[in-house]
Formats: sequence, C-alpha cells, structure tokens
Amino acid sequence: MKLREGLYAYPWESMTENNCNAYLIDGPVRTLIDPGHAHLLHHLEAKMAQDGFTFEDVQLAVATHPHPDHCEGLLALQKLGVKTTMHVDADAFIRSFSDQWRQMTGQEMPAFHMDFHLKEGTLELGTEKLKVLETPGHAPGSVCLLWEGQGVLFPGDVVFAQSIGRVDLPGGDAAQLMESLERLMGLDVDLLCPGHGPWIEGRGAVKENFYFIRQAIFGMGR
Ligand SMILES: [Zn+2]
Repeated sequence: MKLREGLYAYPWESMTENNCNAYLIDGPVRTLIDPGHAHLLHHLEAKMAQDGFTFEDVQLAVATHPHPDHCEGLLALQKLGVKTTMHVDADAFIRSFSDQWRQMTGQEMPAFHMDFHLKEGTLELGTEKLKVLETPGHAPGSVCLLWEGQGVLFPGDVVFAQSIGRVDLPGGDAAQLMESLERLMGLDVDLLCPGHGPWIEGRGAVKENFYFIRQAIFGMGR
C-alpha cells in the first residue's frame, strides 16, 4: 500500500499470528525495512506484488532489531541476492542466542551473515539518506531509521501508537528504552512508521503520541 511518494507500507493484519509491519522505500536503492518472519514472507510477497514489486526488485533489507518477527526473513531475501544489514550488537545477540539454542536442542540456528553492519550515522542509499540512531532498550542493537528530508521515522519496536516496546525480553532494559525515547522526541518527524500497529501522520500527532507515552506510561508531566 502506497503511503506517500516513494514509500510503501505492508501492515500486519492477522489477529491470530504475530508478525511485524514491513516498509519499502522505493528509491535509488530500493530498501525493505523489517521483512518479518521467514514463514510469513509469502504474505509480504503477495502484498508487494499488488504494488508491482517482487523480492528481486529489493536491493537492501534492513532489520531494526534482532527479534525473529522482524529479522528472520532477511535470510531468505539474502538468498535471492538482496543485501542485508542490522546493527552489530543485534547480530551478536542472535549469535549468542544461537549458542543457547544449540545447547538446548543440539540443532543449529540458521546462521546470519550480514553484508554489512549498521551503526550510528548516515546510511547512504544513492541520493536518499537514512539517519541511523542507536536506540537500545527493547532489544540489543535496536536502531531507528530517520529518512532525511522526508521526516519519516521507522522506530521498529521502540515506540508505537500510544505504547512502547516490551523490555522484559532477553536484553531488554527499561532505562535504556526511556533514553532512546527521549532521543526520538527531539526529532522532527512528520510520519511515524512503527513495527507494529498503525502509523501516525502529522508532526502534531507524532508529538502528541510521545507526550501521551511520557504521561501515561512513565507518569511524567509534559
Ligand atoms: Zn521486537
């Protein structure tokens, strides 16, 4: 579904199964953000086809953080020739978890080998630029991506409409999440595209959402 010029959103709509929202930037380097679970990729593929895209049209797939409902699909995309990336701490977190998994089950987790790692700074996508913000708290190596000049923020699971990401999963940290939220509040955002649930359009609505969270979840004044 086209959100605005050069931006497509693929919201997860099933009530019975968990997966994330995926977003496609149709720019000089066509970039897919958070492809989601591997076994649910066919949903995304079908929705993208309605907009005239195939997975082979994607040049870069980015995971905002190392939870399987966001990053697992990277592996299948990589096999199709798509470049893949996530933060180095996110990659390390998956590796440490795969050790646990091996000890528990004797089986290997699928190995992730990112083509490159994200870090704080600017990710150049031809003429377009994504500002990479390190925003841990929900998960190690969690990043938010700000599409420069567009005011579009992809926060992964750091912030949602009237809610925030969980901090009770391995590697979660409430104090870090709060710091990450404070960082995001200072950005000029016109469209917030979270990893789950509805997106928020308009600078005023995005600011209101941060104020609501500060007040309702952290009990802080405006
Ligand atoms: Zn998550």
